[in-house]
Amino acid sequence: KRNILIIGGGGVARVVAHKCAQNNAVLGDIHIASRTLAKCQAIIESVHEKGSLQRAGTLQAHALDAMDIEATKFLIRATRSQIVINVGSPFLNMSVLAACIETGAAYLDTAIHEDPDKVCEAPPWYGNYEWKRRQACKDARVTAVLGVGFDPGVVNAYARYAMDTHFDSVESIDIIDINAGSHGRYFATNFDPEINFREFVSTAWSWEDNAWKANAMFEHRKDWDMPVTGLSTTYLTGHDELHSMSKNLGVPNIRFWMGFSDHYINVFTVLKNLGLLSEQPVRTARGQEIVPLEVIKAVLPDPASLAPDYTGKTCIGDLIKGHKNGQPQEVLIYNVCDHKTCFEEVGSQAISYTAGVPVVAAAMLIADGTWDIGEMANVEELDPVPFIALMNRMGLVTRIRDAQGDRVVEPEQEEV
Ligand code: NDP
Repeated sequence: KRNILIIGGGGVARVVAHKCAQNNAVLGDIHIASRTLAKCQAIIESVHEKGSLQRAGTLQAHALDAMDIEATKFLIRATRSQIVINVGSPFLNMSVLAACIETGAAYLDTAIHEDPDKVCEAPPWYGNYEWKRRQACKDARVTAVLGVGFDPGVVNAYARYAMDTHFDSVESIDIIDINAGSHGRYFATNFDPEINFREFVSTAWSWEDNAWKANAMFEHRKDWDMPVTGLSTTYLTGHDELHSMSKNLGVPNIRFWMGFSDHYINVFTVLKNLGLLSEQPVRTARGQEIVPLEVIKAVLPDPASLAPDYTGKTCIGDLIKGHKNGQPQEVLIYNVCDHKTCFEEVGSQAISYTAGVPVVAAAMLIADGTWDIGEMANVEELDPVPFIALMNRMGLVTRIRDAQGDRVVEPEQEEV
């Protein structure tokens, strides 16, 4: 058994806590820490309320500023945690990773590190931060799996799995992220507005013909015929996994497409053009300094508060094109998740659920040794078969649509 320290008290942390509790016979004690103790306590209450604990065991809340490496090391040691699941804000990655390297705990996260002062950095994203600690992980024999949410995370594993099983060569991977759900509010973001907007305010990078291409945000639109969500409109967007996949998979074209409604784009464009998405402070007539983006964040709904009313489904997957046995081959490998079902099970919506389940599956694969590699890796570098098989049993079912039809993937039974 491996004890778990969850860092963060948001929507994803809630899913992670429930899923760890449902598997605490494998994972051992569970500790949750964020700056606001009450958020962690509320998550623990929800775990008890839903009866998620598989067996009686420790479930404890802690107040922690995870930017403080010494305090984080102290908590890892005091709780005898062997696996740290970092689902706090992406500003924390490098300090939590440092605490893991110095204590020997395994490290997992679901988003790339961000520097609060730099918006939309140019590639190589992992090269700017996490990969600089690769040697330190190796020296300390620390397992660190980066970006193991849904996207990044599962979509990386999907690409690797499809390449191993369905292709001799691959020309393109289009990652498609559709949220066809409705939260019933005028305007809201599904996770931290600050993080959400930072993704879209400047260049949309894509990997084309083995090189980075800079596009304007909302410059390229494409409609896809998706299972369940139907015809879905997306725009080319930059995303973490494009960088690691372009380095690790040898595929010449990798793009990320995110679904946006016209209404979202209208509101976003107005806010941006007025300067209200800026992280640069402005001075008011009364001489006060305010950060416009912080004001927007303060007036928008708390993303976690959307969950109870959320209906509809997400559909996220990889459309992969290439050749097998000399014939052209096209495969969509994907998951469909229902907001309401997620809320009933764990009290979070599907965006948090699809990020939280994979990171717990990864923790379980580290705990049983399968992914306990003693070094740093992105998801596409690891064996996708046990990961996909485990998620199928944990509530995220993988499906494939190809020339043979549309079916659930049973990875342990398919020919590799
Ligand atoms: P939230 O904003 O809801 O939660 C972030 C949490 O981090 C808060 O509870 C906050 O609590 C905590 N936090 C912030 N600063 C600190 C600090 N210094 N020390 C300790 N805790 C801190 O985000 P979500 O739960 O929606 O998302 C969590 C992560 O998952 C994000 O990195 C997000 O980008 C990622 N994500 C990944 C997805 C994927 O598919 N790969 C999809 C969705 C999200 P407090 O203020 O109390 O400290």
